[in-house]
Amino acid sequence: MSLILVVNSGSSSIKYQLIDAQTEQRQASGLIERIGESMGRAVHRAGSESTERELPIRHHGDGFRAMIAAFEREGQPLDRCNLGAVGHRVVQGGSEFVEPALIDDEVAAKILDLAALAPLHNPGHYQAILAAREAFPKVPHVAVFDTAFHQSMPPAAYTYAIDAGIASAHGIRRYGFHGTSHQVVAQRAADFLNKPIHSLKQIVLHLGNGASACAINAGRSVATSMGLTPLEGLVMGTRSGDLDPGVILHLLRRGFSVDELDELLNKRSGLVGLAGSNDMRDVRAAADAGSGNARLALDVYARRIRHYVGAYLVELGAADALIFTAGVGENHAPLRAEVCAGLEMLGIEIDAARNASPETGPRRISSDASRVEVLVVPTDEEAEIARQSWQLVSGSGAQGESG
Ligand code: ADP
Repeated sequence: MSLILVVNSGSSSIKYQLIDAQTEQRQASGLIERIGESMGRAVHRAGSESTERELPIRHHGDGFRAMIAAFEREGQPLDRCNLGAVGHRVVQGGSEFVEPALIDDEVAAKILDLAALAPLHNPGHYQAILAAREAFPKVPHVAVFDTAFHQSMPPAAYTYAIDAGIASAHGIRRYGFHGTSHQVVAQRAADFLNKPIHSLKQIVLHLGNGASACAINAGRSVATSMGLTPLEGLVMGTRSGDLDPGVILHLLRRGFSVDELDELLNKRSGLVGLAGSNDMRDVRAAADAGSGNARLALDVYARRIRHYVGAYLVELGAADALIFTAGVGENHAPLRAEVCAGLEMLGIEIDAARNASPETGPRRISSDASRVEVLVVPTDEEAEIARQSWQLVSGSGAQGESG
């Protein structure tokens, strides 16, 4: 019964995993992509088997049904799996959702209402939720929000200094994202250090295609770099991160449309804007081969991270742990070295050999002399969504390592 179907619907895709919330064992996973295009694609994996199909997928409801069909074709029909819950990742939970919620009609309607704040994500979540509830009416459905973990931020950390009436009328404030990842990584870091999380001050750097930093005091988010939308903060694969808002006004006056600016800042900025690729491996290779643009992109990327590390050290008063996670954070030692270079005076010192180790599990990369523990801790948002969903529906909670 602790088998959870985790559904992660993006703007034009649905990723899914069938996970046992208690053992974290994956039974199957897959990806439905190019939703809304003339031809979509469904990839399904179970064990070492992988199958792939092309078919038109009009919307997320169709996508969800394509996923059900893939399970059936592979001889593992979901309606006979004894699902404990379906756990839906939801990007925007606004100020209302501070923890996972059991989805009923009212919660589903609120998720759709919040589409005003997350137009690329919440409509797809809503459609996938409708299709999922229709397909599995007897199974509890749980929404796990990217924003929920950051609802503990104090007002001074989430308030933008604009006209208070306009901000309130339009829901404008910092919400923060990647909350599920920051939360599970902070807990796993505490487990690794063998210390209770409430005794720790941590800075988590989630550096994937999207990237954000989070200051965590006693297991609670007190500051994070993403804002009203996942565009603010660190330099990302294709997103600009922090920018003078005057740039947008300037380009609007120069004749750019809102859609063009959206595309520019979300899809054609960050690493891809500066160096032509959103993949850190390509950018590093180009820099190593002498490209000045790629070198500058890496410098801007690392400098922005250091800016937030400095800010969060001040915010927290000190840090016990600085933690790298996600695609770049877990795999790219040179960037970790650049972020930590010259920070010995702040108690941050990494050990070159430990940093270069090809290990993949949670590990320490700081030197024995470093006052701050510098760690690499793999994130696992799907396992955390499964754990939180199971905890909500079972009442007692999944007693996993990150409990
Ligand atoms: P997402 O935000 O889409 O979940 P990930 O956390 O998987 O992304 O991160 C993807 C990014 O991680 C890639 O675009 C690439 O820049 C980086 N990455 C992945 N593997 C490596 C690696 N071995 N070395 C350097 N960078 C890597």
